[in-house]
Amino acid sequence: MEVRAGQQTRLWHDCWLGDCPLKVRFHNLFRIATNPDIAVAKAFEQGQWSISFRRQLNDNLREDWQDLQDILSEVQLSDGTDVVRWAWEKSGKYSTSSLYKAMICGGVTDTRAMMIWQSPIPLKVKIFIWMAIHDRIQCGVQLKKKKWSGPEKCFVCDKHETSDHILFQCPLAIFLWSFLRDCLGWSVSPTSCSTLFLEIVERCRGALWSIWKSRNDVVFNKKIVTSPSIPVQGSILGDEVLPLIETTQCPKPSHGFF
Ligand SMILES: [Zn+2]
Repeated sequence: MEVRAGQQTRLWHDCWLGDCPLKVRFHNLFRIATNPDIAVAKAFEQGQWSISFRRQLNDNLREDWQDLQDILSEVQLSDGTDVVRWAWEKSGKYSTSSLYKAMICGGVTDTRAMMIWQSPIPLKVKIFIWMAIHDRIQCGVQLKKKKWSGPEKCFVCDKHETSDHILFQCPLAIFLWSFLRDCLGWSVSPTSCSTLFLEIVERCRGALWSIWKSRNDVVFNKKIVTSPSIPVQGSILGDEVLPLIETTQCPKPSHGFF
């Protein structure tokens, strides 16, 4: 879109700043936007940007919000009707040849999603990781929204069971990520799906799957994880999720290693 007064352009959905819609570039902010369909003109009222969210922003989201504000501060609206431009032609005008090229090129892709789908891992693990990134796994808080009668608290530590809690913030998950951080030389461990960096998707997919399986054992089979080394070994050695991490860069677990 070529934005003028911003009446016809949707802030999050339309491609009007850069090469992709803001909902892709700032996906985690978009997910909690109070009005995901707001028009640019409506979001820019009385000379300032007014975009609200359904919940308070954590540190990571505040960084995203700052980045978005920096980008928006460069925008200058004018008078007139917004113009739709055909993005695949420099002239902005539609042509069938450019449409064909766009169709076979595949368009804008979520890099993490692309890495997941191209990984040599079982389909069920790919689907699980994709769902985790999009906050769709069946955790207590999500199930409660669907009128589930069970608890929404974590079976292990009694905190609210969100996707981020299961996969990154529960003590078992913290242990596993700390272990991988030290083995792989990361300066920090991931603390939520929004901080899931590419290396994890690329090299440590099994960790996510192993934590999820351990959690399900506790919830559905009442099988308590007796040692944190179990999901660690599962994330490294599990037959069905190899290759998980490059073991040449990680101490090889052996009996009595922990
Ligand atoms: Zn917990």
